[in-house]
Amino acid sequence: MSTQTQIIHSIPVDPLTGSISVPIYQTSTYVQEAPGIHKGYDYARSNNPTRKVLEDVIAQLEGGTNGYAFASGLAAIDAVVKLLSAGDEIIAVDDIYGGAFRLFTHIYQKFGISIKYVDATDHRNVAEAITPATKLIWIESPTNPTLKIADIKKIAQVAKAHNVLLCVDNTFASPVSQKPITLGADIVVHSGTKYLGGHSDLISGLIVTATQQLGDKIKFIQNASGAILSPFDSWLVIRGIETLDLRVARHSQNAQAVAEYLLTEDLIGNVYYPGLASHPNYEVAKKQQKYTGGIISFDLKVDDKELAIKIVSNTKYFKLAESLGGVKSLCCLPCEMTHKSIPQEKRYAAGVTDSLIRLSVGLEDAADLIEDLKQAFAIAKKEVEVFV
Ligand SMILES: *Cc1c(COP(=O)(O)O)cnc(C)c1O
Repeated sequence: MSTQTQIIHSIPVDPLTGSISVPIYQTSTYVQEAPGIHKGYDYARSNNPTRKVLEDVIAQLEGGTNGYAFASGLAAIDAVVKLLSAGDEIIAVDDIYGGAFRLFTHIYQKFGISIKYVDATDHRNVAEAITPATKLIWIESPTNPTLKIADIKKIAQVAKAHNVLLCVDNTFASPVSQKPITLGADIVVHSGTKYLGGHSDLISGLIVTATQQLGDKIKFIQNASGAILSPFDSWLVIRGIETLDLRVARHSQNAQAVAEYLLTEDLIGNVYYPGLASHPNYEVAKKQQKYTGGIISFDLKVDDKELAIKIVSNTKYFKLAESLGGVKSLCCLPCEMTHKSIPQEKRYAAGVTDSLIRLSVGLEDAADLIEDLKQAFAIAKKEVEVFV
């Protein structure tokens, strides 16, 4: 069965009424026949039938046993960290999502959890960083925003050999492109805000576990901490997932065209896109991912922030906004937006310069998107003469 058929038919028809669309159970509680005698639902923080459909669909799509839906991607990440105890250590990818960096560094370090950041493009760096205190390896692949690729299978082997959990933030690739659990990961997290929702109209997070035992632990944390996804937002994510494979295929096709155009533009320094043969991890990406995704980053030959600001302020179709993965194309300047909370030195070490621009290539026509960038560069070029 093809992925798209599997996705559409993993979403059940309502057994009660035959409703082809999943019903939205907008309720806080459920009536019991006698104390403790109920239909499997007692309170809506613990269980909600609409959320349960989403949780089952994402678990199936990722090839895991259990799925859980949270109020945001960060709430999902937070629930995974709560598996740890004071004295434990996390080894995380250095090019990590800014919000995860902030959570690990500024919330969890004060509770006695320490964090080490490594370049995960070489699995040996991860292996070398492991100590007896290491309990969790945290990777993203591709990373945000420089799209570094980690070999998930090799890192999973390292994790297994040291009896350490491996969690993969699969937001950028999405499960139609790669399924980390099938490569040996223990946990997958998503910001469902991005490709899974797909329409820039909600905030959500998801966790999938490789085993029932890990799932039970996450379920306990989800109920105990309470950052659940609402019934309506659960329904929106289900609706987004219905077209996930179609959308990611088109996002990738568009991004490939835009990335190839960027290589020809003389204002530009590096172009980071896993679908370009010049990408340092091109071979791993080709082996590991079905699609190369909708995100491209590039920086300018002249590392000038004002110039980068000029470009992102003059695009018409690429709307200047944080976030990614929606139908409308977006652009952002990570140093002033998504990655502002990361200290400059650390930012540069990860390749996130002041002129680095990230594009989330949407579902418009690729030729129109290229025209849009061309006219924005033309405006900026008038300025560059001042600097060259
Ligand atoms: C956006 C994002 C998150 C955080 O998700 P929210 O839904 O915004 O809380 C985590 N990881 C990655 C890779 C992201 O892009």
